Amino acid sequence: MDLGLKSKVAMVAGASMGIGYAIAEALAAEGARVVLASRNEERIQGAARRIRETTGGEAWGLVLDVRDPDAGTRFVQAARDAFGPPLILVTNAGGPPPGSFARFDIQDFEEAVRLNFLSAVRLTKAALPDMQAARWGRIVHITSSTVPEPAVGLFLSSAVRPAVAGFSKALATEVARDGITVNMVCPGLIATDRLQELAKHRAQESGLTAEEEFETLGRAVPLGRIGAPKELAAVVAFLCSEPAAYVTGTALRVDGGKVASLL
Ligand code: NAD
Repeated sequence: MDLGLKSKVAMVAGASMGIGYAIAEALAAEGARVVLASRNEERIQGAARRIRETTGGEAWGLVLDVRDPDAGTRFVQAARDAFGPPLILVTNAGGPPPGSFARFDIQDFEEAVRLNFLSAVRLTKAALPDMQAARWGRIVHITSSTVPEPAVGLFLSSAVRPAVAGFSKALATEVARDGITVNMVCPGLIATDRLQELAKHRAQESGLTAEEEFETLGRAVPLGRIGAPKELAAVVAFLCSEPAAYVTGTALRVDGGKVASLL
């Protein structure tokens, strides 16, 4: 299938590693011109270089903290300068720290809102005008399986990420007539550094090793294993594609069947 992504300019946030990196790589492999962003200069330039090498495509690294008030405008300007008006946006960042309600104070909630909700709003606000001018756009928000199913031990994620679901769905309705689709992808257990960290956290409480926790987590998934970043990235690349034009306002789980609810 031709995804129609050749030469489209894409912005992927939180992309020096993990899920964001895999998405940037998948888009570049389909011929998109990708600007990828994260906070550390060396890591993001290394990631952009690796993507150029593995895909033979175009990738540009930008140092950006998605919590900064000017993150959206800087990201869009960098994409315009590097490749032209961006028509694809993938919002993503690190997750909030794990723990239960008692562990967190109000500042922790504010920080989680900044990192995992306002960042998505900020980047979207800056990216929309170019998409509206082109009457074509694709926005994908990366959230978590804590949106359909709040998770024990991931209190901040469970409390804050559903705001992205409301934002994503409401926006999808508003911009549909502009030819812009807005969707959300909810990862289950995907093998990244973030998951290693969560396994370590669980290991401290259970007395098992982090490796044992990792295996136990995988066994609890209906498909019997933890997912690969590439498996999630392929779904996002499709949502960003031309053939996905009639898919908007959805929340798509990529979780090996882990979330038990119907909706
Ligand atoms: P990760 O920690 O491996 O990678 C996060 C990326 O975001 C890195 O490139 C990091 O540098 C960047 N980043 C972090 N804070 C940033 C900031 N303030 N500004 C810009 N960039 C920033 O995480 P991951 O496993 O790839 O997960 C990506 C998202 O998906 C996270 O929000 C995570 O909570 C969520 N998620 C992951 C899983 C999983 O199993 N991996 C499951 C559910 C949800």
